[in-house]
Amino acid sequence: MAEQFDVLVLGAGAAGLFCGAIAGQHGKSVLVIDHAAKPAEKVRISGGGRCNFTNIHTHPGAFLSENPHFAKSALARYTAQDFCALMERHGLTWHEKTLGQLFCDQRSGAVIDLLLKELREAGGVLRLETEPTGVTQTGKGFHIATDTSDIDAKALVIATGGLSIPKMGATGFAYDVARQFGLDVITPRPALVPLTFSGDLKEDFARLSGVSTPVTASAGNAAFTEAMLFTHRGLSGPAILQASSYWGETEEITIDLLPGAEAAEVLIKLKRDHPRKPLSLALGEVLPARLADMISGHLPLPSDKRLGDISDKLLADAAGTLSAWRFTPTGTEGWRTAEVTAGGIDTSALSSRTMEAKSVPGLYFIGECVDVTGWLGGYNFQWAWASAYAAGLAVGGT
Ligand SMILES: Cc1cc2nc3c(=O)[nH]c(=O)nc-3n(C[C@H](O)[C@H](O)[C@H](O)COP(=O)(O)OP(=O)(O)OC[C@H]3O[C@@H](n4cnc5c(N)ncnc54)[C@H](O)[C@@H]3O)c2cc1C
Repeated sequence: MAEQFDVLVLGAGAAGLFCGAIAGQHGKSVLVIDHAAKPAEKVRISGGGRCNFTNIHTHPGAFLSENPHFAKSALARYTAQDFCALMERHGLTWHEKTLGQLFCDQRSGAVIDLLLKELREAGGVLRLETEPTGVTQTGKGFHIATDTSDIDAKALVIATGGLSIPKMGATGFAYDVARQFGLDVITPRPALVPLTFSGDLKEDFARLSGVSTPVTASAGNAAFTEAMLFTHRGLSGPAILQASSYWGETEEITIDLLPGAEAAEVLIKLKRDHPRKPLSLALGEVLPARLADMISGHLPLPSDKRLGDISDKLLADAAGTLSAWRFTPTGTEGWRTAEVTAGGIDTSALSSRTMEAKSVPGLYFIGECVDVTGWLGGYNFQWAWASAYAAGLAVGGT
């Protein structure tokens, strides 16, 4: 005999726990299942252990999707301020680090405790180390087989996340269920991920490993001004992670090494101020020394010649490389380190108000498995909360 619940949520991550709590608060019997031994492990490791739980500048433009309008409704109905109010009710405090990114003052575990408490107080049940093995639609809802028992539920919410960090238990379960019910899946790809290189560039970057500098990194039609970090494998840091979400294989990225400045003016001023210095040394006035040394080798100028002996015209011509240094990554570090998954369940198959599959009443998809991917900086959790809230209200009958 199968167990009976109004709502079964598969995936006890940020979105699944929150959705279960909202549904429970609306009087529904709720079971949340996860195959992992602990819930919400990505919340635990997020934000360097301090969970960047939202961004006060959340706006639909900070999300990638085949349908950029899809996220609007859910984001408008559950805002960053709403989650802050919830944090406050649980006695949690936070601080803004930069660019509207709110980090928990307590450890990330406090946010997990908040989610678990909300679920428990709403009467929801959490069951870990349970593997869903099959989903079928019945006349009254869904029948879900697991490795321990069978469950009948009137509504089924899929919140099993995306493919990033497989060693933490990420699976393509949500995509399999979507395909089983005839929903399209936009090919998932690693996003917010370091970029890798080969050949000379890889060697150049590896030599600079550990150097960080502010840049504007552009890929596709997006540009981000933040820090860039050189690593043994290539490039990382917030600017690169952000740009990676917009980067398509074989495409170039462009780096402005002097964001907010006119590169030609900077070079000519360096010449006036340091006429006896060679270019590579003089550039060290405006860039980290090791980067200045490396990049001067990429400029169409004699790097050993004294700056005072190079014409202003030549300097102005070379400035383009500093303000728009273009090169093509060979790839990304992939699922192993990608912070999120771009692509996912095609939003055209879902209601933007409720996250319910239009062609399968009672079946919902929320969180990272949906083709909505936020920028770095708390946007992905805000999407998890907002999509969970939308589905939680819907399955709760509101
Ligand atoms: C290192 C790192 C740091 C991050 N930091 C931030 C941050 O500071 N701010 C931010 O906004 N975002 C951050 N993110 C992104 C954020 O963690 C995710 O966007 C968010 O967790 C997605 O929530 P979700 O509930 O959809 O999926 P998840 O949190 O991934 O939860 C999915 C759950 O489903 C379970 N599951 C998967 N497959 C199955 C299956 N087959 N059967 C049963 N259960 C299954 C998993 O065990 C997991 O518990 C970070 C991500 C990483 C990897």
